[in-house]
Amino acid sequence: MNQVAILKLAWEMRASKEVWAEFFRDRFCKGSRSYISYIKSSIWVRIKKFWKMVQDNSIWLVWNGNAINFWMDNWIGHSLVDYLNIPAHISSSLMATVVDFIHESSWIILPWIARFHPQVCNSITSLSFSHNQPDKLAWINAADGILTMKEAYIFIKPQTSQQNWCKNIWSPTIPPSKAFVTWRLYHDKMLVDEHLKARGLALGSICSLCKENEESSEHLFFKCRFARAIWTGLQDQTGCSLDSCSIANLLIISDFFSPLTKTVMIACIINAIATIWYC
Ligand SMILES: [Zn+2]
Repeated sequence: MNQVAILKLAWEMRASKEVWAEFFRDRFCKGSRSYISYIKSSIWVRIKKFWKMVQDNSIWLVWNGNAINFWMDNWIGHSLVDYLNIPAHISSSLMATVVDFIHESSWIILPWIARFHPQVCNSITSLSFSHNQPDKLAWINAADGILTMKEAYIFIKPQTSQQNWCKNIWSPTIPPSKAFVTWRLYHDKMLVDEHLKARGLALGSICSLCKENEESSEHLFFKCRFARAIWTGLQDQTGCSLDSCSIANLLIISDFFSPLTKTVMIACIINAIATIWYC
């Protein structure tokens, strides 16, 4: 079996809800990250080599929070054990799931996280969730979050890879927490009033920036006069034409520009999105 097929199999083992995948996870994994070092299995020996690659290139999209380990899984742009530098001998016993930190329609934030790690607190409380849908693991290098054989081939053979927006946003030059905001916006997962209303919450919606329109992702990030001023200002400062009607269009930077200029523009856009969201 070639590397592409094994990467795909490792992904399926991590993400699939099929019986064989659950059986493999139960047999070879302890929790969501640690695995037992040696079990006699020819297929697991091969998959194990790709397990960390799958971990490092995937993010959980939170819905009901049942499938996600609160501490060890990446669901806010990084895992909490990595961000908080929790030692392995402690982290291996942290089995709480994300749903354990949701009460009715609100997040439960541990006081010490709120006090000492406000950015983590902001990342968590800005996430939307739904009790009615299962969580979804997303491959960060694919626009739709699904690792197909084609995507696996592109990933394994980087010299043949095509540039796309998601490869650009998960750049080492951009903080993961800010990249994650753009990722969620792309997947229409921002906790804006239009989604709260869709969940049945009766509220009077108003844009927190202009105080003139109802708050939706489309309005807040693209139609609001404050957002438009940011995109116009960015165009004027850089001389780079931007199509600010959607996040997908914004991230298309003309090939006329050099790779370095493109990287800078993507970083500017992602920082602007995060600024709009957190301001
Ligand atoms: Zn507005």
